[in-house]
Formats: sequence, structure tokens, C-alpha cells
Amino acid sequence: MKRTLEWQIATVTAIKPETAEVKTLTLRLPDWTAHRPGQHYDIRLTAEDGYAAQRSYSVASEPERIGEVDITVERIPDGEVSPFLLDTVVVGDRFEVRGPIGGYFVWDGSVGGPLLLVAGGSGVVPLMAMLRHRAAAQVSAPARLLYSARTYEQIIYGPELDMLAGLDGLKVSYTLTRQQPPGWKGYGRRIDDAMLKEVSAPLGRDVLAYVCGPTALVEVAADGLERVGLPADRIRTERFGPSGT
Ligand SMILES: Cc1cc2nc3c(=O)[nH]c(=O)nc-3n(C[C@H](O)[C@H](O)[C@H](O)COP(=O)(O)OP(=O)(O)OC[C@H]3O[C@@H](n4cnc5c(N)ncnc54)[C@H](O)[C@@H]3O)c2cc1C
Repeated sequence: MKRTLEWQIATVTAIKPETAEVKTLTLRLPDWTAHRPGQHYDIRLTAEDGYAAQRSYSVASEPERIGEVDITVERIPDGEVSPFLLDTVVVGDRFEVRGPIGGYFVWDGSVGGPLLLVAGGSGVVPLMAMLRHRAAAQVSAPARLLYSARTYEQIIYGPELDMLAGLDGLKVSYTLTRQQPPGWKGYGRRIDDAMLKEVSAPLGRDVLAYVCGPTALVEVAADGLERVGLPADRIRTERFGPSGT
């Protein structure tokens, strides 16, 4: 059995800007283990004086990609690690990682569906791993993504999500909470019970929900899903940070 909690040295092999404040880093891993979508890696950066900072980043890619994982990092202004990963790291850099980690906020074809994914901001990252796996493994479980972003420009993975939404059984709904472009047809407010009811109702009673994002959004959405009729044990949550915005 692989020891996924041992540190190994990852090499950055590609960097892709996603939005103005978000980039995807591809990490090549000498001791790669297939992850379950929803799992994360810990990254440890160590300065020359020995000071180390450690943070968690969800795997964005599907486990069908062998030997490497994508992580997608959003800038937290004044943060210690995220600005470094966005501004300083270049292709060829190496740093310590360990993973994949996590056994609760995970989904793959064996779990089944119907699947309701609710994301706020970079909370879409582990849910994207689930959707990429769903497509790569041709899982037929119906799925729906409700994705809250502040503006259209801040939607991460937009073109790929539109492409995936053209495939069988997946519907993607956006809500833009701060500003909507002219002619916007999606939602234009914070996630509320009426919205959750609209997106969950077509999936039926057996729906399994995964909610990820800033703490406040996760709490509103998870409580709301219960109010619109989902049993608590069908709702799984992952909180990325303390922000309420
Ligand atoms: C399981 C797990 C998976 C995660 N996956 C991802 C991911 O895929 N992509 C990603 O970008 N981040 C992810 N995060 C968040 C990530 O681990 C860091 O917390 C984040 O990058 C901020 O680190 P920092 O060092 O830049 O900021 P810090 O120096 O830790 O924090 C600076 C300030 O920002 C506040 N803060 C910290 N985190 C957040 C946040 N998320 N939102 C708002 N304010 C915050 C802190 O309270 C502090 O005041 C994940 C977290 C967890 C627990």
C-alpha cells in the first residue's frame, strides 16, 4: 500500500492562468497515486532559514491522468502561500507535497448519483475533479453544478464547464453575486433556498450533494439544502477558508 502521507518533491510542469487572480499549476509527482475526486494535497514551502508554511490544495484534475495532478490556486490578498504560488513559482520549480488526502468529501463513479455540486469561488476546484472524472470515466449519473462567483470574469474553468455541460446528463447553473453582464440569463443573487430548490428538485429524492467554498457560503448552502428537503446525511461539505465574502 502506498504511503500517501509521506512528503515527496513535486515539479511544476505547466502553469495556466484561469482568471485574473487564479492559476492552475500542473505538478509532476515521482510517487503518484490515483486520487479520489475531492481529495487534496498538502504543499509545504520551506525558506532558506528553515521557516516552513503548509497549505492544502484540492486536486482539480481527474485521476485518469497518470503521474501528475493539477491544483488551482486563488489569490488571498496578503496571504502567505497563495501569492507566492501565483507570482513567484515558475515551470521547473520543485516543492514538497503529500497526498492525496481526504476520505469524506470524495466522489467517484462507484458512489453513484444523482449528484448536486454547489461551489463558491475556488470551491469549484474539487467539484471540477468530480466532473472531469465523470466525463473521463463516462459515468452516467445525472449531475448538476450550481456555481456562485462574484462576476462573469471570475468564473474559473468557464469554457470547459460549458463544454462539459453539453454532455449527457450534466447541467451547469451560475449565479453572479456582484455584477452580471448585459443579457445575463443565469442567477444574479447570493445562493438562497429558492435557488437550491430549483436546482435540486429535478434530481429527485436520492440526490447526493457536495458543497465547497468559503465557510459562510458552505453554511448557507448546506443549511438551505436541508430546508428544501435533503437529508443531512446526503450533504457533504468542505470549507476552504474563514472568509464570509
Ligand atoms: C481541504 C482544503 C482544500 C483547499 N483547496 C484549495 C484550492 O483548491 N484552491 C485554493 O485556492 N485554496 C484552497 N484551499 C485554501 C488554501 O489551503 C489556503 O488557505 C489559501 O490558499 C490561503 O493561504 P495563504 O497562505 O495565501 O493565506 P494565509 O496567509 O493563510 O491567510 C491570510 C489571510 O486570509 C485569510 N484566509 C485564509 N484562507 C482564506 C480563504 N480561503 N478565503 C478567504 N480568506 C482566507 C486568513 O484568515 C488570513 O486572515 C483549501 C483549503 C482546504 C482546507
